[in-house]
Amino acid sequence: DEASIHNSITCIATLLALGYSSNFIQEQIRKLSAVEMRLQLKMGINNCVIINDSYSNDISSLNIALQYLQQQAGLKPATVVLSDLLQTGMADDSLYEQVAILLHQYGVKKLIGIGKKMQAFASVLQKWIPNSQFYTTTDDFLQLAVQHSFQNECILLKGARTFEFEKINIRLSWQLHQTVMEVNLTAMVHNLNLFKKQLLPSTKLMAMVKAFSYGSGTLEVAQLLQFHKVDYLAVAYADEGIALRKGGIHLPIMVMNAENSAFDALIQYQLEPEIYSFQIYNEFHQYLLSQGIQQFPVHIKLNTGMNRLGFEVTELAELANLLNNQQTMVVQSAFSHLVASENTELDEFTQQQATLFEKAVGNFENQIGYKVIKHISNSAGITRHNQFQYNMVRLGIGLYGIKSATKDNMPLEVVATLKTTIAQIRQVSAGQTVGYNRRGLVKHDSRIATLRIGYADGFNRLLGNGNAYVLIRGKKAFTIGAVCMDMVMVDITHIPEAEVNDEVEIFGKQIPIQQVAEWCKTIAYEVITTIGQRVKRIYFEE
Ligand SMILES: *Cc1c(COP(=O)(O)O)cnc(C)c1O
Repeated sequence: DEASIHNSITCIATLLALGYSSNFIQEQIRKLSAVEMRLQLKMGINNCVIINDSYSNDISSLNIALQYLQQQAGLKPATVVLSDLLQTGMADDSLYEQVAILLHQYGVKKLIGIGKKMQAFASVLQKWIPNSQFYTTTDDFLQLAVQHSFQNECILLKGARTFEFEKINIRLSWQLHQTVMEVNLTAMVHNLNLFKKQLLPSTKLMAMVKAFSYGSGTLEVAQLLQFHKVDYLAVAYADEGIALRKGGIHLPIMVMNAENSAFDALIQYQLEPEIYSFQIYNEFHQYLLSQGIQQFPVHIKLNTGMNRLGFEVTELAELANLLNNQQTMVVQSAFSHLVASENTELDEFTQQQATLFEKAVGNFENQIGYKVIKHISNSAGITRHNQFQYNMVRLGIGLYGIKSATKDNMPLEVVATLKTTIAQIRQVSAGQTVGYNRRGLVKHDSRIATLRIGYADGFNRLLGNGNAYVLIRGKKAFTIGAVCMDMVMVDITHIPEAEVNDEVEIFGKQIPIQQVAEWCKTIAYEVITTIGQRVKRIYFEE
């Protein structure tokens, strides 16, 4: 963010003035890490999104928070609830004029000013943000402003601590006693930067946001990635790309599986299809001809061993020939996919794929007469086969903090936490059973908790009958009986302090998602992408 750049430049200038060498400065600057912000993003009432920063309020932190608001708002109108600014050391009239201009520059559509100073400078603020209201205290606002005056907005709460904006946060937030998946955006940026560090500065990065961004929420993740300047996004189907464009994403987007019926949408929303066969090439070519469209960017997929989608290496000459005799398409990139980048035992095969790819694409470029972006590596490819980064890499699972290669020692941070709560607790005596078909036999008098999560939320039935545990008050509680559609029961006899509505961790920092995958006899990719749609995703930054 700009404030960090500013701070770094101040450091550099100071070090130069003190006579340090530029080599030394460059080394030290590398070691700087970003100051973590405590900005929290979550679903609010009436389809609003709330960004809560009710800890401090001064001009530089306001600037950062407004940047974040702009980044997250997408197409929702931006609203700011702002308290008086304290201890800024500036004269009030110039301070509040500066605040007004700043709000205006960041495209704020509505302002709620709270505090005596805010009220005193109402006319200046109103000049820049015509839609503004002012209240003397937080309690006044809570009493006078009705809840439904907020609709479909992105609302930044920015107040000095004494104004107790937590009260507003509680009022405007969706009250959750349900299953949620928390997505830690700070951890995601951390992971993104770890991967970037493995790349040459010239290597581009395509972020894979298919399957609802690996279950984490496509638009929110895409907005973050756009803000952090990845080069490309990729989705599996055109619909996913359309949702991104409608949400204000302007990065180039590759669509891996574009079929006939989606061609209109590709053009309308500037989505770049993967061309993987002569059939799809011909259909798209005909379509572009009929629409009179020229030079539409496409991506050529090569089969080097996966045997899923793609042209055979031997077909490339014919494809080049076709491409040379048309104006409808221009090849943006050529790529292939590694079969086993995470698998040490198959490294030789990976090497063969890369060799085949390099040679074939080299020839292809010569035949079509121009250079294209070449890419083959996924997450494990980046960490384990760094020499195959070519011009771009395609980062997927690693972004979400999940390691696919067991011997990968990257310090990735956990991004997703799946949580639920306790709905009811009961005593069940020895000899009774729990759940459908009497599968959970109670051997001695027990305390059983019913959780608000079931297989419809992605809590797999293989996790039932004591095959898995969840965490309640930091302690393991094993499942008992079969998993139901919307609920599951766990044994909490040894956790007497547990109460109704207690939080329950299903996976996260303490129960790695890989552990859950093992219990389900599958891989983490499947666990994360099969969390039900009705599970609310909550985004936050630390
Ligand atoms: C999903 C996908 C990736 C990303 O793979 P990860 O292992 O999640 O990094 C890369 N390329 C293609 C073609 C994909 O389908």
